[in-house]
Amino acid sequence: MHHWRTATQKILQFAYCSPLKPRSTLDNIQKLVHCGARTAAVNKVQRTIRYNSGSATGQYTGKQDMEPGVIAVIGTTGVGKSNLSIQLAKELDGEVINADALQVYKGLDIITNKMPIEERENIVHHLIDFLPMDREYSVLDFKADALDLIKQIHGRKHIPVIVGGTHYYIQSLLWRDTLLDTKKNPGMLSEAEQQEQISIHEKFLKESDTLTLYKKLQEVDPIMANKWHENDRRKITRSLQVYFETGQSQSDLIKKQHTVPDNERLRMPSCIFWVYSTQDVLNARLDARVDAMVKGGLFEEIKGMRANVGPDTDYERGIWQAIGYKEFDSYFTAVEEAIRDNRPTDTNELETLKAECTETMKTRTRQYAKRQVLWIRNKLLPLCREKDVKLFLLDATSLDTWKENVENVAVKIAKDFFAGNSLPAPESLNSYAKEMLTVQRDLDVVAALESWEKRECTICTEMQRIMHDKYAPQGSVEPIPPVIIHGPTSWEQHLRSKQHRKMRTCKAEMERDGPNWWYFKAQEYKKRKREGTLNSEAETVAFNHSNDNADNNESNSGHNSSDSEGSDNPRKMRRTDIAIEAAEPV
Ligand SMILES: [Zn+2]
Repeated sequence: MHHWRTATQKILQFAYCSPLKPRSTLDNIQKLVHCGARTAAVNKVQRTIRYNSGSATGQYTGKQDMEPGVIAVIGTTGVGKSNLSIQLAKELDGEVINADALQVYKGLDIITNKMPIEERENIVHHLIDFLPMDREYSVLDFKADALDLIKQIHGRKHIPVIVGGTHYYIQSLLWRDTLLDTKKNPGMLSEAEQQEQISIHEKFLKESDTLTLYKKLQEVDPIMANKWHENDRRKITRSLQVYFETGQSQSDLIKKQHTVPDNERLRMPSCIFWVYSTQDVLNARLDARVDAMVKGGLFEEIKGMRANVGPDTDYERGIWQAIGYKEFDSYFTAVEEAIRDNRPTDTNELETLKAECTETMKTRTRQYAKRQVLWIRNKLLPLCREKDVKLFLLDATSLDTWKENVENVAVKIAKDFFAGNSLPAPESLNSYAKEMLTVQRDLDVVAALESWEKRECTICTEMQRIMHDKYAPQGSVEPIPPVIIHGPTSWEQHLRSKQHRKMRTCKAEMERDGPNWWYFKAQEYKKRKREGTLNSEAETVAFNHSNDNADNNESNSGHNSSDSEGSDNPRKMRRTDIAIEAAEPV
C-alpha cells in the first residue's frame, strides 16, 4: 500500500513537471511501469492528466465545467455496500463519503448499522458519526457538504466513493435539480426583510389549519393542489414551502428542471454499483442481523436515545426514524413503568413483548429493503439511462462468491471507468442484471405530474347521481359529489374494482335498454328470486326493495345494480361508497 502511493506520487510529480503535451506525457508514463509503479498507479496518473487537460480519450473533452468522476455504491440495507466501498477505496485510492441519513449521527453504531472502525481498514470516511441526535440533517445539507468534499477529494487526486442506502441523497448529489433547490432567490429584499417574511410564512404554515393551507396552495399552485389530497398536510406544506422560499410554484420548478437538456442534468461522471441480493436470501440475512443487533447492544443504545427524548421530539424525523427505536417502544415502556411503580417485572410478559418487538423490527427492516429496491428501479434507473451514467448490478446473493462476483467485478469496472476504457454492458454482467435493470416505467415526470391529478370517474359519478335521483327521500336537495380518485395507482385499482365494473355494466345496459332498464332489472330479480338464484343476502334485500318500487310504480320499476348493502336509505349507502372510494391512498 505504502510504496504504491509513493510510486504514484513520483509519477505525478513527473507528470506535473513535464513540459510535454498531455498525450506524450501519457505515452511516457506508460514507459514508467517498470519503475515499480503498478498499472493502477499509471491509470491514476493518466486519469489526473485527463482531468487537467480535458484531452486523451475524450471522455472529459468539452466538459471542463464538470467535476471529475465519482463512484457510488447503492443497494438495500444489509447487503454489503460498506464492504464494497472499502474494497474499492483501497484499490482506487479513494475516500468514502457516507450517504446514509442515519449514519451521520454520532454514536448509535448498532441501530444505524455503522461499519466498525476497525473494519474500515484505515480508509478515510466522511459525513459519518458527527451529528448530535437532537439535530436534523436534510438532503440539502448532505448535497452541499458532499459536493464540497468531492471537490476536496479530487483536489487530493483521490476518488470519492459515495456509499449509502439513502438513495435520494445520492440522487440529489449526482443529478442536478432532482430535488428542488429551495435556496432563496437573492433578490430585492434585504436580509432583515427576508427574515421577517420567512417568519411570517413559517407562522402561517405552522398555525393554519390544513384546509386553509390547501386553499392557499390551490391559489398559488393549482397543479400541485390537484395532486395532493386536501388532508395531506405534510405534502401541502412542502409545496407551499417551495413557493414561499423560491417565489415560484413547485409545479413550474418541476417542469423547468425536467426540460433541462439531458447532458446538463448529470453533475459529474458517475459509475454506480448496485449491490444486489434476491429478496428471500436477503431477508434471512436481515433477520439474522436484527438478532445480532439485539445481542450486540441495541438495547443500550435505545435506552440512551430514550433518555434524550424531548417534548418536541418528532419520531418521524432524524435519528428517531431508525428502525428498532419505535419497534421496541412497548417493551421499554413496560420496563420503565415497572421501575417507576416500583414493582417487580414480569419476566415472562417482558420476554414475550421482547420477542414481538424483535419480530416487528425484522418485518420493518424487510419492508424497508423492499422500498429501497423500488426506489432504485423506479427513480434511479430511469435517470441512469442518460448516456454518462453507468449502473452496474453486482450479484451479492451468495456471500461465498463475493470476491469473484462483487469485489473483482466492481474493481475492474471502476478502473476501466476512470481509465476511459470501454465498459461491459450492464445487463450482461449476471443473470439478475438483465431482469432488474429493465426500466419498468418511463420517468416522464411532467406527464406523471399531470396523471397524478385527482380524476373524476364520470361513469360512477353519473350512475350514483341517477341512483340518488331515484331513491333519495322526497325533497332531498343534497347534491351527490363526484367520485374522485387520487393518484394513478388508486385509479388503476378503481377501474378494476367490483363497484366500478358494476357501474360500467349498468351504464351500458341503460344505454341499450333506455327507460325499460329499470323494468328489466326488476324482472330479472323476480325471476332469480323464483329460481332461488339470488346469490347474496344483499341481492335479496335489493330484490325486496326493487319489488316495492315496482309495485308502487309500474312504469318505472326496478332497482340499481345488485350491490345494495341492504340499507334502507340508498342515498346514505351511496355516500358511504363514495367515501370509501375517495379515501383511497394516493
Ligand atoms: Zn368508476
